[in-house]
Amino acid sequence: MPSPFFTPGTRSQADQVALLHLRRDQTIPTVLQIHDDKNLGYDEGKVTNTRFGSFPHSTLLGQPWGSQIAASKVDTGSRGRRPPTQTQTSTPTETQTQTQLKRKAEDSPTVTDDARPTPKAAVAAASGYLHLLYPTPESWTASLPHRTQVVYTPDYSYILHRLRARPGCTILEAGAGSGSFTHAAARAVFNGYPSSEESLDEDQQQQQPSKKRRLGKVCSFEFHAQRVERVRDELVQHGLQGVVHATHRDVYGDGFLLDGASPHANAIFLDLPAPWLALKHLTRRPVEGGNPVSPLDPSTPVYICTFSPCLEQAQKTISTLRQLGWVAIEMVEVQHRRLEIRRERYGLDARGVRGAVVFPKSVDEAIGKLRASDRGGRFRNHKDDSIDTETPPAVNTTTITANTTTTTTTTITTQNTPVYNLGRVVHRTEADLKTHTSYLVFAVLPREWSEADEAKCRAKWPSSC
Ligand code: SAM
Repeated sequence: MPSPFFTPGTRSQADQVALLHLRRDQTIPTVLQIHDDKNLGYDEGKVTNTRFGSFPHSTLLGQPWGSQIAASKVDTGSRGRRPPTQTQTSTPTETQTQTQLKRKAEDSPTVTDDARPTPKAAVAAASGYLHLLYPTPESWTASLPHRTQVVYTPDYSYILHRLRARPGCTILEAGAGSGSFTHAAARAVFNGYPSSEESLDEDQQQQQPSKKRRLGKVCSFEFHAQRVERVRDELVQHGLQGVVHATHRDVYGDGFLLDGASPHANAIFLDLPAPWLALKHLTRRPVEGGNPVSPLDPSTPVYICTFSPCLEQAQKTISTLRQLGWVAIEMVEVQHRRLEIRRERYGLDARGVRGAVVFPKSVDEAIGKLRASDRGGRFRNHKDDSIDTETPPAVNTTTITANTTTTTTTTITTQNTPVYNLGRVVHRTEADLKTHTSYLVFAVLPREWSEADEAKCRAKWPSSC
């Protein structure tokens, strides 16, 4: 079955993972399932219970992606007792608006999937709603069950770009952890599904040189047995098992070969406590203690990124990379910040200093000041060109906190005020956003260049060599 991460189609389908988007910061992944047992009179399938109501999967299946789906009244009484881990969402009255319901429900963090069939649900009385979305690596990262620390989108988008990850590449990843980076890497290298010819093993493929396309793959290694099992299950559920090969392995000791053969990697991502211990396996020629065969693609440069939270780890990695012949070594810290951009009015402060932010004490004072300095006729009633003394401009009051002092500023906006007169554009960073995730060390191992390569090059481009 094609992966909904690559080719979601236009509508949700049974046995595929879908994302139930409840609000900006809450999305639930679920595999859509229906147990169509007409004999029992049950046809609602699995039910996902959320703080915004119950959603039988019969209401989620076959819907266009992006649809808003109303919660259903589910007759839980006739389904017998629920296990104690499941909390029932209270049924709200029909007079409550959906927004009120969402706000009210925010205090009860209840999400359960109930795979047992339910009696016919009365879909009419909606309590809340959700949006049905197809999965993407970004939304999976935001909603996946965490088994470890994960790599987030701002980091992995930059990392994959620096690794030159593209369709047809082979990426080595260690460790797999919760599979966050794995999903993003799988999408970056995906180059279509294998045809029956292409799914042959490598020896058979070599006997058929007509095939040009290289199928991208991610070879992911993880030494924690349960974690690798969970990742494998998720890969099957997400239809990614043809692109990602998850191996249970301690890469410090055993390296990156697959059944003793080279995976021909073009890029490497190491999210390990001691990445420098794995580097002895990632060489062009075997070194002491390393893999006997190089796991790297001999015909291309290989790009590496290691992800370490401490500077000391980054330093050890850099030192080992240098000793093993890696070049263009660089350390980067991604400081992802959300910027709040607004207009601020500047003028004279109490001491008459120009340029200070003016904080009127009240909205009335702010309006009064504006009226007094109404040289440009901002409050003029444009219909009859007379001064409009009745209608004040629109006023928004915003509270900002700076240096532990809470200050109230008044922003005055009028439809007729030219934009340049509304105040100076300023920006602030969101105060409590975590910025440091890890130090990223990047490096390149150039491809090997033999006498034969040089001769080939001279023959092909005689004037440029
Ligand atoms: N990058 C992952 C993600 O985005 O979900 C998170 C990786 S997690 C921080 C680090 C993982 O490395 C852990 O799951 C750990 O079990 C694994 N690990 C640690 N040492 C390892 C080794 N020698 N070989 C393979 N995996 C290892």
